[in-house]
Amino acid sequence: MKNMMSLLAAMLLVAAGEGSLVAGETTAPRAKYCLFVTVDALDRDYVARNAAPNISQWEKQGAVFPDALNVFPTLTTPNMTSLVTGAFPCTTTIGANKVYVREENRIVGGPRFNKAVTIAEAFKSRGLSTAAVQHFMLEKRGTDEYARTEKGGSAEITSLALAMLADGTTPTRLLAVLYQSVDTVGHKRGAESAEALAETRSVDAEIAKLVKRYEELGILGETIVVISSDHGMSHRNKQIDLANLTRKVTEGGWKHEIITSNNPPTTGTDFFIIQGGNLNCYFNRAFSAEERERLFAALRCVEGVGNVYHGEALRRLRTHPNAGDFIVEPAPGWWFGGEMGVHGRNTESDGYEMMFGPGIRKGASVQGAFTVDLVPTVLHLMDIPISHTVDGKVLWQAVETP
Ligand SMILES: [Zn+2]
Repeated sequence: MKNMMSLLAAMLLVAAGEGSLVAGETTAPRAKYCLFVTVDALDRDYVARNAAPNISQWEKQGAVFPDALNVFPTLTTPNMTSLVTGAFPCTTTIGANKVYVREENRIVGGPRFNKAVTIAEAFKSRGLSTAAVQHFMLEKRGTDEYARTEKGGSAEITSLALAMLADGTTPTRLLAVLYQSVDTVGHKRGAESAEALAETRSVDAEIAKLVKRYEELGILGETIVVISSDHGMSHRNKQIDLANLTRKVTEGGWKHEIITSNNPPTTGTDFFIIQGGNLNCYFNRAFSAEERERLFAALRCVEGVGNVYHGEALRRLRTHPNAGDFIVEPAPGWWFGGEMGVHGRNTESDGYEMMFGPGIRKGASVQGAFTVDLVPTVLHLMDIPISHTVDGKVLWQAVETP
């Protein structure tokens, strides 16, 4: 009887002009809006340590990606670019925070020449409105409205974001918001500090204000909320003495230069280094395979050095060549600089990622994701064509089957 009734109800709906209701199709609300929040350096460990009560609560309503990987090196600029494009650095061409463009013999700090389509540009291709606050790789990249604050204070970022939603008559379809203070505090006080957790709690409360506004506007049920991070954060205990490294290199008969400005490398050296988290190293002349191995072995002997990535290893990590011909990474606990909290290594590719909203499986825990998978998953749920520059995949295990 019950079945008869539902069949009758469905037939009546069709008769009443709701003609899209066909067998197997869901009547659940479709995703119309996306709130894409990124918290710089939100280590997944902070959330596990109960520093983000709102986010933890939302986990039950959506999908989490407990071992999702950020891109290498785990620096902010390449990762922010990959987060908003769904493409690896080899596609975006944003390899590091400071890169060497060999063809032009130029060092570029804060590169913005992203070659991949951004999520905002994808929305625009469908004529949907877009806005961003502080998400710097979206500035002039598909956003109808863009705002930033020099100080980067969380409360001010929230105010700017709430202003983007205005009176709610026609809320922007995409709102991308970036909070940066968790990174700042993490660097200063370290990943194990009470201050890093306190700052996480405060940003978590700011994000809750945004979500509450969507609720007040009556559109939260049609909104995909993404909480993402560009990388994790590690505690530093010991500092690598660069003089030791210089000595090893000199003993091996090589000349190198450590570049701290944006001036091009000098000629006459064998290789040069841009110090940006790791040591991003570039050959200044041809090295035979045997000589390369000898140099890497010497560098690995320096106290505090963990890995030397080169060749196939960098290609597998899908880095861009402008991040270095080889990259020297500190061992766990070690760093080149004196800050208490650090990121840039593979070990900090543990930023926190989750999403909830229409079409997303509640309580799903999806293994093996990459942060570049977030954008194609959002685009799929919003029925927007996935751009040809996207490297990531739709996270089908996070998507409800109709
Ligand atoms: Zn940082």
